[in-house]
Amino acid sequence: MQFVPWQSIADWKCIACGYCCKLYSVVLKFPEWLRIVKSFGVEKTVAGLNQLYLKRASDGSCVFLCNFGSTYYCGLQNMKPIACKLWPFKVLTEPKYGQARQAAFDYNGMKLFIYADTMCSGLRYGTPTWEFNHITLREFVELAVGIRQTQSKSTSNLAFAYPLQVRRFGIL
Ligand code: SF4
Ligand code: SF4
Repeated sequence: MQFVPWQSIADWKCIACGYCCKLYSVVLKFPEWLRIVKSFGVEKTVAGLNQLYLKRASDGSCVFLCNFGSTYYCGLQNMKPIACKLWPFKVLTEPKYGQARQAAFDYNGMKLFIYADTMCSGLRYGTPTWEFNHITLREFVELAVGIRQTQSKSTSNLAFAYPLQVRRFGIL
């Protein structure tokens, strides 16, 4: 994992490549784990020594990952864990990955530091656009501090297949 400060990113849009859902184990908060277990069964999760995770399929991808050809979707949607909602960004109160000035972000007087994981295919590097700075990143911050749950700019807008995906997992 390598992180870059947000001021080196021109823009970010999820292109639904599914790479993140194949690459990492998703850590669950206890309430998230409980909701998922109640809806899908405990077998869709894994208990580690100190943490709870989403189960991964034999190819390493999350068991809730769905696809239409080369376009990937999350089958959890309205139960999507916060770790997934925030990826590829880290919203921190300390400049953990360096370059503090480039990572600094002011949110209504709250001093934060934002970095992005360079493994994400949706990052475009350069000078941040107004929309990325004032709309997209603010949404990530609001998700991170818990004043927002719904996603708009922080997820793929290729959502036309969503109803099919949730049917597959028995929500509808
Ligand atoms: S967040 Fe990034 S890596 Fe994950 S599906 Fe979207 S573009 Fe791909
Ligand atoms: S819960 Fe959804 S977003 Fe998170 S890893 Fe699984 S498929 Fe991807």
